[in-house]
Amino acid sequence: MILKKINLYIFLAFLSLFSNYKIYCQYNYQKSNPIDLPLNLSGNFGEIRGTHFHAGIDIKTNGKEGYEIKSIDDGTLTRVSISLGSYGKAIYIKHYDGTTSVYAHLKKFSKKIEDIIKRFQYNNKTFVLNKFFKENHIIIKKNELIGYSGNTGGSSGPHLHFEIRDSKTQNVLNPHLFGYKLNDSKEPVIKRIFLYSLNKFERFENDKIKKNIPFKVISNSKVITDSINYIGKFGIGVETFDQHNLSYNRNGIYRIELLKNNEIIYNIKFDRFSFNDKKYINYFIDYKELKENNSKVVKLFSSENSNLSFLKKEQNGNITFKENVDYNLELNIYDFEGNKKNIIIPYKKNSNYLKQIKFYEKSNINIDEKKTYDFENKKVIFFKNSYLENQFVSIKNLNDTLVLVNKNYPLNKKIKVSFKIKNELSTNKNIGIGLVLDKSNKIKFLPSIIENNELYSYSDKLGSFFIAIDSDKPTIKPLNFKNGDWVSKKRYLKLEINDLTSGIKKYDGSINGKWILLEYDPKKKLLTYDLEDLKYDTHKLNLILNVEDLANNKSIYKAQIYRDIGVLENDLSTSTK
Ligand SMILES: [Zn+2]
Repeated sequence: MILKKINLYIFLAFLSLFSNYKIYCQYNYQKSNPIDLPLNLSGNFGEIRGTHFHAGIDIKTNGKEGYEIKSIDDGTLTRVSISLGSYGKAIYIKHYDGTTSVYAHLKKFSKKIEDIIKRFQYNNKTFVLNKFFKENHIIIKKNELIGYSGNTGGSSGPHLHFEIRDSKTQNVLNPHLFGYKLNDSKEPVIKRIFLYSLNKFERFENDKIKKNIPFKVISNSKVITDSINYIGKFGIGVETFDQHNLSYNRNGIYRIELLKNNEIIYNIKFDRFSFNDKKYINYFIDYKELKENNSKVVKLFSSENSNLSFLKKEQNGNITFKENVDYNLELNIYDFEGNKKNIIIPYKKNSNYLKQIKFYEKSNINIDEKKTYDFENKKVIFFKNSYLENQFVSIKNLNDTLVLVNKNYPLNKKIKVSFKIKNELSTNKNIGIGLVLDKSNKIKFLPSIIENNELYSYSDKLGSFFIAIDSDKPTIKPLNFKNGDWVSKKRYLKLEINDLTSGIKKYDGSINGKWILLEYDPKKKLLTYDLEDLKYDTHKLNLILNVEDLANNKSIYKAQIYRDIGVLENDLSTSTK
């Protein structure tokens, strides 16, 4: 026993010598390509997206769908998911080296997987699903065809979203660590550099808490900023992106290090991260810049309340400039191929004090308490931990609208908004709460509940809230057939469904009383039925489609169509497994 223990200690000590290396050393680097196309990316690993860090790489597919997708290694199919947003149709394969590869936004699956999934869909009468499989139940070989590239889910153009995860923790790993090379010889580009005052009572000119620092580009790899000449506690922010040789897409960077007197005081490196990190993304970037200018400024100092897995706690990026002391500030920004931009930030010793202020915007929403704002006929409740740190939220009660604004940080937890309603409205089934977000004038319909003449709903966003009634029914339009048609030569039935006011909540279709799988593409408002899914023993097919919107308005479409009785080997509705 003692011997074993000593061995283990030696082993751990050995690993700690290579602390960066140890995480990856067990993995198989000889993985193959998921797609037979050059690695031309429209998004890279760790890139900042509105609500999350991009967990994989987006491989461009020439604006087309239908490229073969192949497993990058031997493994076992562990999960298939189909969702209307996010990953769309996605496949998860667990490999024997402790990694799982993920392929998302697929158009369809290979026949082997499609057959299993369709059976599940018919048995459970559902299009969307999240199905887990026992390990070693469905074996997948390296380079085996698993599906076809597409544009399903939250994708805004055809591409393959490809991920590699650590199977045990489900943390995502940078795919480039597995040998996927990029054609990139360009240094990252600097757009803007900012200095932030980190003292609540100190401000730059015009009461601003941050200041743009102008810079000069010396060469492709070097930039020098104007001198900083302040005394106090500061942080640096940078707006930067990386471009690869073959595309114009502005991708995220791999690594940023901030040095003070040649010592690293903040270090971002996207080798791996946790899905939980997305919770803190708006503390990692300047959220106000994102909201107001749609720009992604990375703050090179950590917020007290944020706990990002890829940052070191002891390097917080806080810089204190004292009077009559010299400082040497430098920023290095790298892409994955090692192209580096070096930014020198000179400091001027005879410096200025910032403007002192007596008061700053006090918080009214504190993280450790529930807070209710009760107006005569409306109410809002902020629960504990509504934010990750105390905030000031502007709350205005304007006639029939409740206006809630906080430009500094987004909500961490949903708020409850309620309106008192008159008796005659309390039986209205099409009533809900309307929400207009900051900039757009588009109304989001929040499905609501009525209890004791109180209409309430929960929202994860602030904005203008009011009572909304949607009495318009969803529309249903057959696209490639009409009532009375013979459809023997057709493989698919296509219908368009739409709801302008509140949006589609659910739909359900049947032929001759049997549930049919209607694949739904919300972007195209399209429902598709594969006529080869089911076998009918009659020429006459009675199609019924029910569609319901978020405000409980229902529409029904009925058609009689005709089709030759085909010979089908598998009728999915009668399958048992
Ligand atoms: Zn992606």
